[in-house]
Amino acid sequence: MSQPESAPPAAADVVIVGGGIVGSATAYFLTCDPAMAGRVVVVERDPTYSRASTPRSAGSIRQQFSTPENIRMSQFGMAFLRDLDRHLGVDGDPVDVGFRENGYLFLATAGGVGVLEANHAVQTACNAAVELLDPAGLAARFPWLSTEGIAAGSFGTANEGWFDPHTLLMAFRRKARAQGAVYVADEVVAVERHGGRVTGVGLASGGRIACGTMVCAAGPNAGRVAALAGADLPVAHRKRFVYVFDCKDRFPAMPLVICPDGVWVRPEGAGYVCGTSPPEDADPDCEDLELDYAMFEEVVWPTIAERIPAFEAIKLTNAWAGHYDFNTVDHNGIIGPHPEVANLIFANGFSGHGLQQAPATGRAVSELILQGRFTTLDLSRFAYTRFAEGRLVRELNVV
Ligand SMILES: Cc1cc2nc3c(=O)[nH]c(=O)nc-3n(C[C@H](O)[C@H](O)[C@H](O)COP(=O)(O)OP(=O)(O)OC[C@H]3O[C@@H](n4cnc5c(N)ncnc54)[C@H](O)[C@@H]3O)c2cc1C
Repeated sequence: MSQPESAPPAAADVVIVGGGIVGSATAYFLTCDPAMAGRVVVVERDPTYSRASTPRSAGSIRQQFSTPENIRMSQFGMAFLRDLDRHLGVDGDPVDVGFRENGYLFLATAGGVGVLEANHAVQTACNAAVELLDPAGLAARFPWLSTEGIAAGSFGTANEGWFDPHTLLMAFRRKARAQGAVYVADEVVAVERHGGRVTGVGLASGGRIACGTMVCAAGPNAGRVAALAGADLPVAHRKRFVYVFDCKDRFPAMPLVICPDGVWVRPEGAGYVCGTSPPEDADPDCEDLELDYAMFEEVVWPTIAERIPAFEAIKLTNAWAGHYDFNTVDHNGIIGPHPEVANLIFANGFSGHGLQQAPATGRAVSELILQGRFTTLDLSRFAYTRFAEGRLVRELNVV
């Protein structure tokens, strides 16, 4: 049973706007730290999370990124997942997110091999367990896969897979509350600033919470929340679809396969899930959750049926839409303070990999608040200031 939400207090040391996986992981890490003596308040406008990114995610975690920081963040996420009972258990209740360690398989045509190899070098330098396979190696390991037109594949042999995102979110919330974080069901509609500081947030209910620090963890809505504070944040909604299907052929050990055109497919329970990202010029900022079945019929299904011939005969059984918290500039997280408003901290723009990065992000934000700097993983390249300074960090492996 979920606990009732609390009435807004008059003041908090830290107000976190948004109680999704990023806001809740931040609340958890802050309240874990003995240095945190003050009050942590999470303001979440929809405690059912009916439209939030987190429960609509595909729930996957990988080490196969092109940016070392992303690899290391997911490695921490993986270590955290392996020890959930210790981190997030409350009253001895186990936390089972149903992790399946089947790996990711990125496939490339001849034109994509260079990128695959360059990414492989970055990944192995970070001690990621990844293997490059030629077509013969792919056929031997994955006999259900057609290697027609494929020049190479990159397979994550450990520390990659998928899990239930909603269970993880609820576990973070429950533990953060058990450690003293207060969750308020309300919407932040105003941010008060005096000079270079945020002094409080205004709520849709009419209340106000004075704060020492504000964390923007509003997912796809982060651009709007930042604007309330007078800050320009390049984060917008980008709609993505997950299609669920049945097939009489079962490949239980199948990894999450990413075809050269970006279409992905993986097992889910007794069936499969799949999806793709549209081309950038057909990817508007929109907030609706309307489904696009034509994308399945015309793009996703033909691609997976060509790659895995057993998928020529499948039955679509379900589908859902959700929104990426999309960083429209370089598709990477934005983690750190506003340069002119030092007590406004961003944790946004994860562009399709925010679930797996939530533990590392929550830890990083709590370090910034409590220690004034990153003390474990240096994420300073993801600073908000990189846009103005022209130091973009472009992630190539956005799925
Ligand atoms: C289809 C799909 C597949 C995905 N697959 C993966 C994947 O496989 N692996 C992965 O790592 N990531 C994946 N992602 C991305 C991942 O889900 C997100 O990056 C992550 O959930 C972002 O978490 P968040 O807490 O920032 O956002 P959210 O979960 O959206 O939470 C933000 C919260 O802020 C609240 N909020 C917003 N504005 C206000 C306000 N003004 N006042 C109060 N509350 C407010 C919202 O109600 C919301 O609950 C996927 C996303 C989608 C849509």
